[in-house]
Amino acid sequence: MLTDLAHIKLADRPLIVCDVDDVVLQFATPFEAFLLERGLTLLPRSFKLTGNIVDATARALDAAAVKDLIHDFFVEQERWQTPFAESVDSLNALAVEADLVFLTAMPPRHAEIRRRLLDRLTLSYPMISSEDPKGPIVAALHENRPLPVAFIDDMVSNLHSVHEHVAECALVYMPPDVAIFRHAPEPEPPVQKAQDWTEARRLIEAHFHC
Ligand SMILES: [Mg+2]
Repeated sequence: MLTDLAHIKLADRPLIVCDVDDVVLQFATPFEAFLLERGLTLLPRSFKLTGNIVDATARALDAAAVKDLIHDFFVEQERWQTPFAESVDSLNALAVEADLVFLTAMPPRHAEIRRRLLDRLTLSYPMISSEDPKGPIVAALHENRPLPVAFIDDMVSNLHSVHEHVAECALVYMPPDVAIFRHAPEPEPPVQKAQDWTEARRLIEAHFHC
């Protein structure tokens, strides 16, 4: 199952738990293009999708319609989603000395497609697909091992969740360079912000070797 932890076997080395959407694979930018193809526009008025996706008459779609759109996008993700610059090379380099686990917050029914897309990109690392809070999941993976652990995400709430449950975890915030993220909340220390994958890799390697 791609939705539980049982299939993940860690070695005696550091652990990196990494989000996928808008961290490894672009989400916001291709989702906007997907919307445009359907005559819809995402207005960067606040940090949420519901209320900001409008049709040609400027009417905002309701929550159910937005959920359906995200579903359709994930079904078609192989057509739309591409990796960020340096993400594949950085992850493969980090995975030489650490175990890497993808923790993707997409509905589990899309997990097989996501698995196939990551595999095609040479990112054949274990993946968990879950919409539950990320902190308890990272804690269950790490199990208080006396080894370094790091977590990368573009959502401040996920980083704070992991901080609450795994106090020693290095936390890397990597927001995509898209307009709607200008409304995103700022992370609290000890979360560190990375501009790109080169910086994220440097922060994680520094944590592993400190
Ligand atoms: Mg994400």
